[in-house]
Amino acid sequence: MTDAGAKRALVTGVTGQDGSYLAELLVSKRYEVYALVRRTSTTNFERIEHLEEKLHMLSGDLLDQNSLQAAIEEARPREVYNLAAQSFIPASWDQPSLTSEVTALGVTRMLEAIRSVDPSIRFYQASTSALFGKVAIAPQDEQTALNPRTPYGVCKAYAHLMATTYREHYGLFSCSGILFNHESPRRGQEFVSRKITDGVARIKLGLSNKLTLGDLDARRDWGYAGDYVRAMWLMLQQEEPDDFVIATGIDHSIGDFCRIAFERAGLDWEEYVVVDEALKRPPEEVILRGDPSKAHQLLGWEPRVNFEELVHMMVDYDLEVLGG
Ligand code: NAP
Repeated sequence: MTDAGAKRALVTGVTGQDGSYLAELLVSKRYEVYALVRRTSTTNFERIEHLEEKLHMLSGDLLDQNSLQAAIEEARPREVYNLAAQSFIPASWDQPSLTSEVTALGVTRMLEAIRSVDPSIRFYQASTSALFGKVAIAPQDEQTALNPRTPYGVCKAYAHLMATTYREHYGLFSCSGILFNHESPRRGQEFVSRKITDGVARIKLGLSNKLTLGDLDARRDWGYAGDYVRAMWLMLQQEEPDDFVIATGIDHSIGDFCRIAFERAGLDWEEYVVVDEALKRPPEEVILRGDPSKAHQLLGWEPRVNFEELVHMMVDYDLEVLGG
């Protein structure tokens, strides 16, 4: 059933962490939500199971121009949120060509599809702090030079600049959110935050007796995914398209993350965490830490979940899931 008065949005990457939270937010705002999903041999709708019947699923892939065009023609959205990407940095070293096709060129395909079907569509591009890469100053804001140092970061920089170029050249309502790390119970298991909370739960439940990590001193600006998707939506509600840094402005070490996570489960992290030198990366001279002042001022956006609450939420979830 379609609601004639409802706004319509197309979301790519809806099976991922952010896509699932954004779809929830849009459904709660009474949008008609169209979700672009790629064909897989088994379904991977774990993050959107609870929402599935409220979404209109469309088959498509960022690798395939026609499928994007067809999805936009069918959904006729007012807003397109492009969250799909090959989003894992280590995989971008293993598969740089695929990462370029999806994470970089996929965005051009989407912009072209929008331009040809309906140039009045508002477009959100999922940019990242990985654009800044090897940084010279902290914190980073919208004016900070792009200096990516991973294939993922380079692809995202290309996508970011294409989104800007289509805005300036074709007048598209194209916005990029430069999002710093954001986590949740739905974060992929390969990311360090989830590796820690999953590891804590396994140790607490007697399923494991150690957690192996790399550099405990590495620092990140971590926020909660549910807060960050709200910023995406706000960007597309403004009068003018623009780019925004979305971050907490506060950094914490991986060691801090471990301590809080183990404490939540009533454990002493120093008894269980093992540092593997092989997993360590060269130390960062300047830390990635965002300055979200522009988003505070122009979008009225503020994070609602703080670091400790985020870690607790993730540990509690993993304990519940693994504990049955
Ligand atoms: P994620 O959990 O890895 O989700 C990625 C999504 O992209 C999945 O739904 C995946 O579908 C889809 N996808 C991958 N290749 C595709 C293709 N060829 N065609 C269509 N869909 C494809 O990522 P996330 O953490 O939600 O992040 C969302 C976006 O924000 C990504 O673009 C990411 O790079 C960016 N970002 C994330 C963070 C962060 O801290 N989380 C920070 C800054 C920017 P399958 O389920 O089929 O694999």
